[in-house]
This record gives sequence, structure tokens and C-alpha cells, in this order.
Amino acid sequence: MVSDIEISLREELVRCMRILHNKGLISGLGGNASARLPREKAALITPSGRFKGDLAPEDIVKIDMDGRVLEGCLRPSIEGPLHTAIYRSNPHINAVVHSHSPFTTGLALAGRKIEPVNYEAAVLFKDVPILEFRRPGSKELGELVAENIRNRRAVILQNHGVVAVGATPLEALCTIESLEEVSIMIFVASHFGEVKLIPKDLI
Ligand code: 13P
Ligand code: ZN
Repeated sequence: MVSDIEISLREELVRCMRILHNKGLISGLGGNASARLPREKAALITPSGRFKGDLAPEDIVKIDMDGRVLEGCLRPSIEGPLHTAIYRSNPHINAVVHSHSPFTTGLALAGRKIEPVNYEAAVLFKDVPILEFRRPGSKELGELVAENIRNRRAVILQNHGVVAVGATPLEALCTIESLEEVSIMIFVASHFGEVKLIPKDLI
């Protein structure tokens, strides 16, 4: 029998992907999200190569911590190795969301770091690393992200996108939204002139 937790996590994953798509943080086929099912040593993950804007709860695939399919008719995300590497090496992380956030990724392409332009940037994003490019879906990408996301909320993948983690998929989604908001502020400010930062002694 499917637990209430599993039912609500499936719905939450579908909701996160819809929001990412509606906000332009992924295009139709991009991005993925997962949630840990702690009692089962398993995770729920979005399917691969599907339109992510209107997934159904039954499209979500159940995998074990090595990425093998336990339940579901669709192929799991190609980023299964990334999601499971994070869960295996970070037991406190229960959800992972991956987007292709255009402003955050665009600033990283130009080598721009997130600067303390507002409270979130100063506190939550004071140390968001830009990780070197690795092939999407590869074990190498998974290992690099799992190593670097410890004690952080998000990392930026060079030439690719963003990975955020949290206690729930919605928490990780909020981090992605907030990081993109900060990136847009930096982009707009730098277009018009010098970026005004929060004074160091007030951070
Ligand atoms: P999937 O559809 O397989 O999850 O791939 C999307 C993606 O963003 C790969 O990095
Ligand atoms: Zn991707």
C-alpha cells in the first residue's frame, strides 16, 4: 500500500516542476526533482525527457539509492546518479531540485559571483560555488555535486544550471527561486551601473 507520505511527495514533486516551468526556470524537457523516502531506503524522482510542466503523480518513478527502478513505467531522470549521490553522502538532505535558471547560469557563464545585494544573497548565498562543467547525467557530475553541496543550499553547474537541496522539494524550489531573483537584481544593476552592496559591517 502506498503511504500518505509517498502520495503527498509525488504531488509536491509535480507541483515543483510545474512552478519551475511556469517561472521560466526550466524549459519543457529540462530539470528534475526528487525526494527521499527514508523508511524504504528509496527516492521518488521525476521521469526523463518528459514535458515537465504538467507531470502526473503516477509519472514519478521510485528508485533505490543506486538508481535502480523499483516502481514506475517511465524511465527515471538521467540525473539519477546526481540525486542518489547526494542522498548517499548527505543523510540530512531529503530533497533535491535541479533547474536551468537562465539568469543564475548566465551570470556564472560570465564568471560573476553572487554578491550581497540583499539579505538572502548575504546570508543564504554567501558561498555558492560554480562547479566545473561535467557531462549531464554522468557519475562524475553526481560526485562533484555531492561533495560540494555539503553544508550548502545550492551549487551552480557551469554551462548547465543549478542544484538546490532541502528538507522538502518545496524548500529546495524556494532556494532556486530566491537565487534567480538575486541573479536578476545583479544583472539589472550591473547593466545600469555599479552594483550597490550591503555594507560589510552590516552583514
Ligand atoms: P531528465 O529529463 O532526464 O531529468 O533530464 C533533464 C536535465 O535537466 C538533465 O540535466
Ligand atoms: Zn539539466
